[in-house]
This record gives sequence, C-alpha cells and structure tokens, in this order.
Amino acid sequence: MFVGLSRMEKINVFWHRRDLRIQDNTGLYYALTSELPVLPIFIFDTNILSKLEEQNDARVTFIHEQIVKLNEEYSQKGSGLKVFNCTPEEAFNELLDTYEIAGIYTNRDYEPEAITRDSAIQELVQQHGAEFYTFKDQVIFEKGEILTDKGEPYKVFTPFKNKWLQKYKDIDHKSIDTQKHLKNTFQLKGTDIPTIEELGFEPSELTFPDKTYSEQIVEKYADDRDFPAKKGTTRLGVHLRFGTISVRELAAQTSSLSETYLSELIWREFYMMILAYFPEVVDKAFKSKYDQIKWINDEDQFIKWCEGKTGYPIVDAGMRELNATGYMHNRVRMVVSSFLTKHLLIDWRWGERYFAKKLLDYELASNNGGWQWAAGTGTDAQPYFRVFNPKSQQEKFDPDYSYIKKWVPEFDTPKYPKPIVDHKQARVRAIETYKEAVS
Ligand SMILES: Cc1cc2nc3c(=O)[nH]c(=O)nc-3n(C[C@H](O)[C@H](O)[C@H](O)COP(=O)(O)OP(=O)(O)OC[C@H]3O[C@@H](n4cnc5c(N)ncnc54)[C@H](O)[C@@H]3O)c2cc1C
Repeated sequence: MFVGLSRMEKINVFWHRRDLRIQDNTGLYYALTSELPVLPIFIFDTNILSKLEEQNDARVTFIHEQIVKLNEEYSQKGSGLKVFNCTPEEAFNELLDTYEIAGIYTNRDYEPEAITRDSAIQELVQQHGAEFYTFKDQVIFEKGEILTDKGEPYKVFTPFKNKWLQKYKDIDHKSIDTQKHLKNTFQLKGTDIPTIEELGFEPSELTFPDKTYSEQIVEKYADDRDFPAKKGTTRLGVHLRFGTISVRELAAQTSSLSETYLSELIWREFYMMILAYFPEVVDKAFKSKYDQIKWINDEDQFIKWCEGKTGYPIVDAGMRELNATGYMHNRVRMVVSSFLTKHLLIDWRWGERYFAKKLLDYELASNNGGWQWAAGTGTDAQPYFRVFNPKSQQEKFDPDYSYIKKWVPEFDTPKYPKPIVDHKQARVRAIETYKEAVS
C-alpha cells in the first residue's frame, strides 16, 4: 500500500532566548514581516539547566513565569509558544522533522558559550536548507559599533561612553511595532509547557522585582543610588538580563531624566563589548600581570564571607541580602567584592562564581566586569593600593545603620561575630601581595 506523504508546512521559526517579550523585539519583528507564518519557540536548554546547582534556583522560576506569560500573549492571537525541554540540537532536529523550515530568526547573544551553541545550530539547520538569521537586540550598540578612531575596541569606560553618547544622538528611538504583525504567527494548536518540577527543579519562593519602574527613582538616581537603605535604583537588572523589557525603550524613556542612569546602561554595554572582544576574561585577568597574585584562598574565611559572618557589618548585610533575596545593592556589591579579594586575598573567581549562583540579575559580562574591577585586575580597575575601608563605606552610605540592622539583626549584640581579619593589617597585606605580583 502506498502511504501518501503529507506535505510539511513551510514556516519560519523565531527562537526566544534572552528576549522574553514580544514588544519591541527586533528579531521577532523581522520574522513576522517575512512571507511565511512564524512559529515562536523557547528551549529550556538542558545543557544550561544541568549546570545549576540549586534545586530551587529562582532564575528557573522567573523564566518559567515569563514563558507562561509569553505563551498567553501569543495565544490571544490564536498562536502559542512552542516550548522544549532538551538540548537546542534535539529541539531543532524535531522541528526539522516536523516542518519545512525556511529560516530561523533569533537575537544575538554575545557570551562565548552562546556563540558556540549558535554556530552549531546554524550549521545544523543549514544542512537542511534553512537559513539562520541573527539580529542585534540585547544592546543599543554592539561589538564593532563603538570603536576608537583607529578602529580598535575601547579598554576604558569614559572614552567609550563619550563615543556611545555621540552615536546615540543620531539614532532613531522609535519602538518596533511587533504587535501589529502578530497575525503572522503560526496557528499552533495547544501548547505544552513543562512544569518547574518536570524541568527538575522546585518553585522558588522569592519575589521578583516588577518590570515597571518609578520615574521619580530615575530622576533622583544620581543622589540616591549609593544608599542601600533607600529605594534609589530601579531593580530592572533581572528584566534586562532576560529581555522582559527592551533596553532601547528603557534608554529612550529615561535618558532625558538622568544622565547618570543612562551611564549605567552604558556600563552594561561596555562590559558586553569587553566580553565579546576579550572572551579570555571569563577565566583570566583582563590585565594579565594580575594573574600572578598569590591568593590565600582560605576556605573557612570564604564560607564566612558567603554566609555573612565576617564581623564587618556592611559586608555581612550585603551577603545576607543576596542569600535571602537574590539581589544585592550595587554599592554593597563593590564593598563585598573588594573585601573578598583585598582583605581576604581570595581569588575573584571564587566570588564571581558565588554571585553567579545567587544573583537573579546574574549576567556574565557585568558580573565579570564588576569582579575584575573590584579585584583591580580589570578594565577601569581600582588601583591596587586603594583598598575600600568597610567602616568608612558604612559611615558614608549607611550612616544610621538602617540597611545593616535590616539584614544583621544581631549587630551590636554579643552574638555578632568578631572581625575575621584586622582592617589595617589586611590592607597592608593586600598592598604588598599585589605589589609583588605586578613588579
Ligand atoms: C562585583 C559586582 C558584580 C556585579 N554583577 C552583576 C551581574 O551579574 N549582573 C548585572 O546586571 N549587574 C551586575 N553588577 C552591576 C550592578 O551592581 C547591578 O547591575 C545593579 O546593582 C542592579 O541593580 P538595579 O537593577 O537596581 O540597577 P540600577 O542601578 O537601577 O541600574 C539600571 C541597570 O543598569 C545596569 N547597570 C547598573 N550598574 C551597572 C554596572 N556597574 N555594570 C553594568 N551594568 C550596570 C544594569 O543592567 C541595571 O539593571 C555587578 C557589580 C559588581 C560590583
């Protein structure tokens, strides 16, 4: 008997990754304005999930919530988000078996592992005659767009920022209207989204910051952002990380309200550019001579730092905030990272990994940049002889101890631990150790 082959439907695929939104999504817009119906997909990538150590990793819950919302938005247009729980290779093999795919559309990701993944998928789909189209979406300016007059990447922030601002004046700030084209999505019948348990995790009980922000915070950002007890920052990190908001729209809405705020968004792009040009920073010091530092790497002291039991209240408050909420205020991130690397002489990579495990807004480029800055090994690094004094940081930025009392309730009681190192001695030791490494 002859079994008639049913003709496979011809479609384009849009692959969501760090862009969990429909609004102002560049790659999605180009897919939707192509000639074919678009099947939006998301992959819970088992290569990534299998590396997460904590059963209730809050990022998995956050992503899951966003995927449910995204699917609802697509469903309102009669479509849906096709969700996979496997490796990207397995997902694309299944798609290629089911549909005739003309093109895969996706937004560019600049992390080294993502680049390797994307080249492998590009090769796979091209073998089946499909194109692999990528777009800039995660940043306003990407690798290659902000260069010195000699055409080289910048290695320090301020000239990069000046060039960035100069270029920003000349671009169109209008949002991309994806909504208008949503009728071009593929009419997917029924979506199956794996539960968090099916992904091998437990739901987290953390609360996630909202994706809206108050304009007042942005207006007062320059004055308030350094005080951890104030609501002085926008808490949008996790949304920028997973692209639940558009950085283009955020910059367009806030740039007239605060130069300082825009400058922080430029730091984000600066570190992404550094990672794209110098991927070796993932394991090595940006300034290679600092790879000679003889770290002490005392494991007991590291555990005390992680648990917020160093006897330095601003450090302990920060670490406890991180452990309890998945967030730590930027000023305190600077203090705790400096304390770990300089006072304790523990390798910045240990601290970087701990942050990577805990931060909701964890982002390789900014985390690496922040840690290398604090350790004095990075781009605009603190000179090694400048060692933050945790006490003066507290006096300046938490003068009435409100942040400390919130996170370290036993502060100022006999239960509070004694300092694990003496500030003066630790400072001298740090300077000598760094000096030896660089001379
Ligand atoms: C050791 C260390 C590690 C860090 N790790 C990360 C990280 O993993 N992910 C991350 O997004 N940021 C990181 N930062 C930068 C900064 O601390 C956070 O972006 C900020 O605290 C997030 O809070 P917010 O959303 O309220 O930021 P806001 O102050 O409201 O700023 C808005 C946005 O601008 C960007 N931004 C602000 N400051 C910086 C900065 N210094 N560098 C790069 N981008 C910035 C972020 O996307 C942030 O969400 C780190 C900083 C240090 C010192």
